[in-house]
Parts: sequence; structure tokens; C-alpha cells
Amino acid sequence: MTHNIIDKIIDYSDPSKEEIIELLNDNCDAYLFSKAAEITEKIFGREIHIRGIIEFSNYCKSSCHYCGINGLNKDATRYRLESNDIVSIAKEATLAGYKSIILQSGEDPFYDADKISDLIRQIKKLGDVALTLSIGEHSFEAYRQWKKDGADRYLLKHETADKTLYNKYHPPSSFEKRLKCLEDLKSLGYQTGSGFMVGLPGQTIESLADDILFLKKLDVEMAGIGVFIPHPKTPLAQYPPGDNLIALKCVAITRILLKKTHLPITTSITVNNAQKSFNPFCTGANVVMKKIEPYKYQKLYDIYPNPLIQDVSIYENRRKLEASIISYGRKVSESRGDAAGFN
Ligand code: SF4
Repeated sequence: MTHNIIDKIIDYSDPSKEEIIELLNDNCDAYLFSKAAEITEKIFGREIHIRGIIEFSNYCKSSCHYCGINGLNKDATRYRLESNDIVSIAKEATLAGYKSIILQSGEDPFYDADKISDLIRQIKKLGDVALTLSIGEHSFEAYRQWKKDGADRYLLKHETADKTLYNKYHPPSSFEKRLKCLEDLKSLGYQTGSGFMVGLPGQTIESLADDILFLKKLDVEMAGIGVFIPHPKTPLAQYPPGDNLIALKCVAITRILLKKTHLPITTSITVNNAQKSFNPFCTGANVVMKKIEPYKYQKLYDIYPNPLIQDVSIYENRRKLEASIISYGRKVSESRGDAAGFN
């Protein structure tokens, strides 16, 4: 029965919420994953895109309840990289082979619109590199300014489509505000990424189905689906981590539904798979993101505990990642990895 639902989604991309719930509840992983992998290979070949993330500030005025660098965590050691250091890291990354750089930070007012503009212009001068911003909620005017300056993409996860849960865990934001930001980004022509977390306390399978349908409705170019990992210094410290299998099923359902959308294998899923018990590319993911700021800062960008970071150079880290991708029977893409219709 669920095989029929999977085939129908592949053909018509128009599932009901009940059908997605049935897939999430059913033991259909083998068929679902094989179909997701088949579609991924048909659209992207065996190529995996690597994105380099520069986490340039862990100051944040928000207080998301699951996040170890939320503004209320007085135990977090804060850092902020200088603009020239950020550009140097981006340059080193391009020399190591990166063609896609993500600038990520907490919501840090120190980096105002003009400082971000300056960073965008300097990094775009380095060559043919796609620049993604992942710096939270801002005004339409700021988003417009950065687009004009050359930013190509923007990542802003909706985290959960359950409005009550969203509002509870994301003070002082609101679901309406997040949605408005996402709509602004789409309207300005950004390649827009959203995504959600699997396993938030209080989340239901029904709301995960809403999350997948939300991605479809927004017609995102990228979608990051991660698992909740409790951080000891947050209000959600005592809750268990999310279920990796459910997260992978969400990735696979998103793949058979959205087909051309770029889907990373998120770091949280990788952390939860430290024993390498599954092939991370077998369920529809075609992107990997790698931290590239110096190691001492990687440790401090502590949204959730991540034992996998290593103190190696950008170049060496990239070579290791490339070897790992190849070991899974995939190929490292040499392109910027723009979304369909943007290249
Ligand atoms: S998830 Fe992002 S916006 Fe929320 S507290 Fe953490 S860094 Fe700030």
C-alpha cells in the first residue's frame, strides 16, 4: 500500500498530509530510500556538492530553546571574527576547491547591514563563488541590499511548522515573522533554503508531515532536515535526541516530492551516525556542509554537541571529506551547485 503512495508522489508530487503520515509511520524504508536515491541519481548524477561554512560570530540576541549559543546561555564563550579574517578564510577555501561559501552567525547586531554588504562584496571578488547567507531574521530592506551586493542564496530554517511549538521555542521570534522573512527572500530572488528539526520535544508525526508540505508550498531551492540533539546548557537539556531514521525518512520523502531541491546530509544526522551505520547518501541527500573557520571557533559555535570536528587545515579537511564522499561511491562536484533555474 505504501509503495503505491510512494509511486504516486513520484508521479504527481501532490500527496495529502495523511499519505505522508502513513509513510512516516510505515516500515517502508527500503523502498522509499531506493526510490529517493534513484531520483537523486537521475537529477544530480552521483555528484555531491560541498559547501564551506564560515561561522563568523556566535553572539546571538535570540534565545531558541534548543541552541547552545542562544543569547541567554551565560556559560557560552562568545567570539566574533574580524571582517578581514572572514575574507581570508573564504580565500583559503576557494584555493582549496570550495565554490560555495556560507556566511553563518547568530543574530548579532554588531554585524549590521553595511558590514554584511562589505563582506559580500569582498568575497564575491574572490572569483566564481556562490555566496550564501545564514544570519537569521532581518528586514526586507537588508535582504534586498545584500541581494544587490551579490548574495546568491539564503538559508533560514522554519524549524517546525507547528506554530504553537515554534512560538514556544523561539522567543522573541514568531512563526508569522519567520514566514514573512522566507517570503521576502523568495520574492527577492534568492535561492532560498529552509528546513526543520526532527525530534523537538512535543513534536508529532503529523507536524512533520506539515513540515514537508511547508517546504513544498514555499518551493524551496534547498532544505536542511536535521535531528534534535540536546545541549546541556539549554532549557531542553533533559530531553532525548531525535530519531535518525525518522529524519532520514523525512529527507527521502522530501526528495521524492521536491526532486530538484538541494538536500544536505545535515551535521546533526552525521553526529547521530558516528558509528557510520548507514550510507548518508542513500536517502536523497546530495550536499555536504563543512565548517571552515579555525578549529578554536568551530568548538565555540556550539549549537549542539558535535564531537566530529577536527583541528586540521581547510585544505586537508576538504581532501578528507572528498575521500569520504568517494568511499560512498559518489563523486565530488566541481560546480557551484546552483539550484535549477539559477545557473
Ligand atoms: S538557533 Fe540561531 S537564532 Fe536561534 S539562538 Fe541559536 S544562533 Fe541564535
